[in-house]
Amino acid sequence: MDCTNIRKKLSAYLDDELSSREREHVERHINVCPECAGEKKSLLLISSLMDEITTEDISPFFTERVVARTKTEGVGARRLRLLRPALVGLGIIVVLLAGIIEFQYLNGKEKIEYEYLKNFDDFPPGSFSHIFVSSFSRDSK
Ligand SMILES: [Zn+2]
Repeated sequence: MDCTNIRKKLSAYLDDELSSREREHVERHINVCPECAGEKKSLLLISSLMDEITTEDISPFFTERVVARTKTEGVGARRLRLLRPALVGLGIIVVLLAGIIEFQYLNGKEKIEYEYLKNFDDFPPGSFSHIFVSSFSRDSK
């Protein structure tokens, strides 16, 4: 049996997932092949490190940190949810104010604006509202 085959089975061997025949094969090969024996050692080292990481060292701090973060993020998310309607309202007010200010500005500057009030769906060309609206419908002029 070649090394590639053995190494494919190594982790299954370490997890005790091989049939007794395959297991014997792997063990026999490891006894005569220092490279695969080394591979087995490093796999064992990795898995023991993983065990340490997940069960002992980091675990208490990690859990604490996750819990702390979940708490602060929970509060933040709740605050944001309460703020969202206010922000949307503020956005609408800003757009309306911009429209009113623009309307008054244009009305004072040039007095041709009375025309477009008759067909209200049309804004004066070049104005903020016109650009704003025409960004939604390409047909409007
Ligand atoms: Zn080998």
